Amino acid sequence: MPGNEGSNIVSEWQKSRCLALTPCIEGPAIGIDLGTTYSCVGIWLHDHVEIIANDQGNRTTPSYVAFTDTERLIGSAAMNQAAMNPMNTVFDAKRLMGRRFMDDLVQNDIKSWPFKVMPGPGYRPMIVVNYKGEVKRFSPEEISSMVLTKMREIAEAYLGTTVKNAVISVPAYFNDSQRQATKDAGVISGLNVMRIINEPTAAAIAYGLELDKKGIATSAKRNVLIFDLGGGAFDVSLVTMAEGSFEVKATAGDTHFGGEEFDNRIVNHFVEEFRWKNNKDISGDATAVRKLKTAWEKAKRILSFTDETTIEIDSLYEGIEFSTNISRARFEELNKDLFRMCMERVVMCLKDAKMEKRKVDDVVLVGGSTRMPKVQQLLQEFFNGKEVCKSIINPEEAVAYGASVQAAILSGKKGLQALKLLDVTPLCIGFETGDGDMQVLIPRNTKIPIRKEEVFTTSADNQPGVLIPVFEEGDRIVRTHGRHYNNLLGKFVVSGLPYLPKGAPKLNVCFDINADGILSVSAEDRTIGMKNMLTRERNKIRISNDKVRLSKEAIEKMVKEGEKYRERVEAKNALENYADNVRKMIKDYDMIGSEFSADDKKRIEDAIEQAMQWLDGNKLAKTNEFKERKKEVESICNPIILAKMNQMFD
Ligand code: ADP
Ligand code: MG
Repeated sequence: MPGNEGSNIVSEWQKSRCLALTPCIEGPAIGIDLGTTYSCVGIWLHDHVEIIANDQGNRTTPSYVAFTDTERLIGSAAMNQAAMNPMNTVFDAKRLMGRRFMDDLVQNDIKSWPFKVMPGPGYRPMIVVNYKGEVKRFSPEEISSMVLTKMREIAEAYLGTTVKNAVISVPAYFNDSQRQATKDAGVISGLNVMRIINEPTAAAIAYGLELDKKGIATSAKRNVLIFDLGGGAFDVSLVTMAEGSFEVKATAGDTHFGGEEFDNRIVNHFVEEFRWKNNKDISGDATAVRKLKTAWEKAKRILSFTDETTIEIDSLYEGIEFSTNISRARFEELNKDLFRMCMERVVMCLKDAKMEKRKVDDVVLVGGSTRMPKVQQLLQEFFNGKEVCKSIINPEEAVAYGASVQAAILSGKKGLQALKLLDVTPLCIGFETGDGDMQVLIPRNTKIPIRKEEVFTTSADNQPGVLIPVFEEGDRIVRTHGRHYNNLLGKFVVSGLPYLPKGAPKLNVCFDINADGILSVSAEDRTIGMKNMLTRERNKIRISNDKVRLSKEAIEKMVKEGEKYRERVEAKNALENYADNVRKMIKDYDMIGSEFSADDKKRIEDAIEQAMQWLDGNKLAKTNEFKERKKEVESICNPIILAKMNQMFD
């Protein structure tokens, strides 16, 4: 039976892990908030965080990927064509990350998504789309890697250099396989994932730094409640900050709750209204439902600052228009239970943190949905009139802000005080005992990184091995510790034990959760007196949901595909950059009074113009075509430029 040795080594080991932040990376390091509905990217530059706007000028980018007959679109371009192409426009991929196809939550989501999800190898869900006239299947990791690639490109366009390193955030409530899947998505997109950071921790860092900037002393201990209600996930965390240390005391939340739940409620309400007005059911028409959803999302934002708004859609279904009025009060009434649920999680979080509400110093709003006045009002009421902090950082940007700070620290940026991040595990980890119950080894909200050891032994004479099924607490509020309710992470097997009476072998099994929140299990034989056994190699395996996880080969294949895509983007950028540089050079020469002859200028300008026109019509050309086009312009421009230089410097 398991004993309880080893817990004293935790603190020493933990200390060494906190100090082991030795940076050794090259090039810029960005912070990415990979959101369910919107993603955001930032970087630490010149002593502050820069949140980087995309090519549309927006500081957040929809986590959408669309496939058409001719191209792949990511971000706003994908979201904007969703109504025309609902079956091949993928969103919410984060909700599928690290989950099995048969998972109830997955099955539920599938019902509301217009795109197709099918079971794939190893029980994993695969998204099925039509792309360039062919049926293609993508894993959620691949879709997320495309979003990450887009965020990386946004940063690269801004910085004018390649970016390899990133810190990526995940909800605090993400379990082991969801974290691993996020890391895999980063690898597929060609990024070096320096760290997986919990979203509330990132938001707390951002809040702490902003307080610092404003000269509000942070040396005194502050208890901060981070309330993050986004589009698809919800986190309430209690973080204690003091002098650059952030300790997550407790976290409660839901990977499946956010603005979209409020949206679906209202969209269903409108579907009913349409049925009632026109006696027609539009619920099966993906285009009509998407049109409604888009119109409603806009209206919802308006309702955050007005009392009433209208929705008008010409020809929503079979040429029939839809026009309706909705008030903020009605919206709040229809979602009463959802608002209440938000507050229940606050209570749960405080309870877990063993903290009275009057001890909470600040309430920080994170996530776009906290812009809903009802949320702010309920929080204010709950905290007896305490002002909620909304103006200090944009709620949609706080997480990317904190992730960027963490990226800067990990890459050894000077001027940044090393922050001590003390995160916690979101779910209990344990193993199954003989009677089928789960014995909790690492309780929920234990600080990470953590290493815990247990001594196992045999229950029969001459038992050749021991099998340890490792479990993680089941989804959300189910806290019963029977196997029925929990997730089997994997079965850890130790075999090849010598023939010994029962109870004689001593297996030291070590559960190790790293700073990313990812678990690995290893075992060591410590049978006293068994010299040969003591030298036995440490048996170490990663058990993290191997069934759900992508295989190494699959990841490598996806990385290659990603690289091909990047080569193409790089070839395209090289052509554009060349054109820009030549144009600039002509201007520079003009400026210093040594302009090109009119004839030469025209030849250069024509060549560049032609290349740019070609580019406009051939954005999806192959890598080689971009390269050839560049060679072509170069063969016209370079000799003229060279001749000019020779003439100038001779
Ligand atoms: P994510 O969940 O992807 O992290 P965000 O934090 O950016 O996303 O939040 C996106 C959600 O916030 C969406 O559901 C969006 O409709 C909602 N939202 C954004 N702005 C407002 C607003 N002004 N009023 C109400 N909801 C908003
Ligand atoms: Mg978010």
